[in-house]
Amino acid sequence: GARRETLLYLDGVNKTFDGFKAINNLSLVVQRGEMRAIIGPNGAGKTTMMDIITGKTKPDSGDVFFAGDVDLTKYDEAAIASMGIGRKFQKPTVFEGLTIEDNLRLSMEGSRSVLETLFHRKSGKENDLVEDILEETRLGERRHAKAADLSHGQKQWLEIGMLLAQDPELLLVDEPVAGMTDAETEETARLLRKISETRSVVVVEHDMHFVRMLDVKVTCLHEGTVLSEGSLDHVSSDERVIEVYLGR
Ligand code: ADP
Repeated sequence: GARRETLLYLDGVNKTFDGFKAINNLSLVVQRGEMRAIIGPNGAGKTTMMDIITGKTKPDSGDVFFAGDVDLTKYDEAAIASMGIGRKFQKPTVFEGLTIEDNLRLSMEGSRSVLETLFHRKSGKENDLVEDILEETRLGERRHAKAADLSHGQKQWLEIGMLLAQDPELLLVDEPVAGMTDAETEETARLLRKISETRSVVVVEHDMHFVRMLDVKVTCLHEGTVLSEGSLDHVSSDERVIEVYLGR
């Protein structure tokens, strides 16, 4: 529904590496069911912010609240992942020798081992989830193909599907369309928009053409903090944003 509810809330987060302030009093609010695009020049702190959300990096100070009052800074990466936060890195990490379908089954929660997943039948509910993901990622026709035989775009979609198999509430996606064709880029925009109907998504992206396709609120980071936020038109016409992208 139209109910707006905060899912992720970074409040005054700081992180210094060897005296260098990578994240500087960063605050960010992402609503449940919202997709947000994060832009900003190299070194702006985008990756460090994602690392802090997922627990890979601990902030020096500040809070990261998830789903109400769960303070993520108190948990390790595995615990945070199990709370329903999935991250997709730029480079796909699919199992090349397995079929699309088996990659998805293996990613499902409750899969105890490769052997168990591949040789034991899953319940109807689990099969339904696999079917839903195959449909959503439009990989159904290639379900029996080995991941190694997929195109670059299809591998990226499979990996997004593998994250969906873990039923996350929040998906963090790092430059999903790098190296994709125009058609694959459009398909990825469609997929992420579909996913964001039921989940929250944070996308770090350099490709402004793709950000425009997403048609979502944009946050521009610079020097570890929010420089500008709003529609892409608002952010891209902001003098301060133009200045950091063009250089002084
Ligand atoms: P972005 O993803 O926006 O390009 P990063 O978060 O990767 O920015 O980096 C922000 C700044 O923090 C950069 O200047 C980078 O060199 C520095 N940085 C990031 N991680 C580390 C680290 N582990 N050790 C030292 N410096 C780091």
